[in-house]
Amino acid sequence: MTSVAFLGLGAIGAPMAGHLAKPPFELVVWNRTRAKADDFARQKGVRIAATPADAARNAEIVITCLPSSREVGEVLTGDDGIQAAISSGAILVDCTSGDPAASREFAANLASCGASFIDAPVSGGVAGAKAGTLTVMCGGDAAVLERARPALEAFGKKIVLCGGVGSGHAVKAISNALLAVHVWSTAEGLAALKRLGVGADIALDVINASAGRSNASQNLFPERVLTRAFPRTFRLALLDKDIGIAAKLAAESGTPVPLIDLAARLIHEAHIELGEDADHVEAAKVVESRAGVIIQ
Ligand code: NDP
Repeated sequence: MTSVAFLGLGAIGAPMAGHLAKPPFELVVWNRTRAKADDFARQKGVRIAATPADAARNAEIVITCLPSSREVGEVLTGDDGIQAAISSGAILVDCTSGDPAASREFAANLASCGASFIDAPVSGGVAGAKAGTLTVMCGGDAAVLERARPALEAFGKKIVLCGGVGSGHAVKAISNALLAVHVWSTAEGLAALKRLGVGADIALDVINASAGRSNASQNLFPERVLTRAFPRTFRLALLDKDIGIAAKLAAESGTPVPLIDLAARLIHEAHIELGEDADHVEAAKVVESRAGVIIQ
């Protein structure tokens, strides 16, 4: 049995952790809000740790899935943090969509305790997490990834080493910048077509058999916007964080990214307007209100 600790039972963390609640893994979970850990433990029959340190103690693999690198830093080095208890030889796998620079600092601090770090953010949404078919983009040492791979395979289908520590986070940030551009531009295009007298259902039928199609046009808009369902699966606040990381990384690398910069500003405005709980696809509502049409 491989002992695994999972910290962060949020929208995507809980279904990911669910796949680790069976042999060959022995799972212990920790969540800031205890009630969520209680629910999870009741359903899955696993142990709840009292603190991040309690979770990490004796674990061979410690997995974090938190909003951003800021919270990962808190559970690592705060009172009763992971770093106080993690075993020499253990691996911290950070599935948060985080910041490469912060991760390089975490890796250096963990190395001084004899522990290893890989960043391993995921893509595929809550549905992919439930199905165990996530894409996992990793940064770190190849030999460390091989040791962590069985745990990642519990919830991931495609697992790719992108480069050194922070590379997984960099790829994830850019991928979500593209998602933001696709959601926003699809909403703008459909709003304009509506004003030109073409309904969104007909427009999407054509676009999805044409060169302008994307995951947004093929899945997100038909399932969530045209139906007005707008399920809350991935918070707009988290997309705002991701595209902000992408814009920052591009600037640091000296790459001009005017389109990503503009999308980052628009997504940030939508986040401020719609609040912390809005889903990322609800950004389309801001486009609708600016255009004075409903995309249907
Ligand atoms: P949620 O907002 O649903 O959950 C966040 C989790 O982090 C909760 O367990 C929350 O605990 C915990 N948390 C928040 N603040 C703190 C803190 N200060 N200290 C300790 N724990 C804290 O986020 P998701 O599960 O949706 O996302 C997690 C990560 O995965 C993010 O980086 C996100 O960008 C990424 N991601 C999400 C996807 C999705 O579809 N949802 C898809 C791909 C990546 P509490 O219960 O107490 O609030």
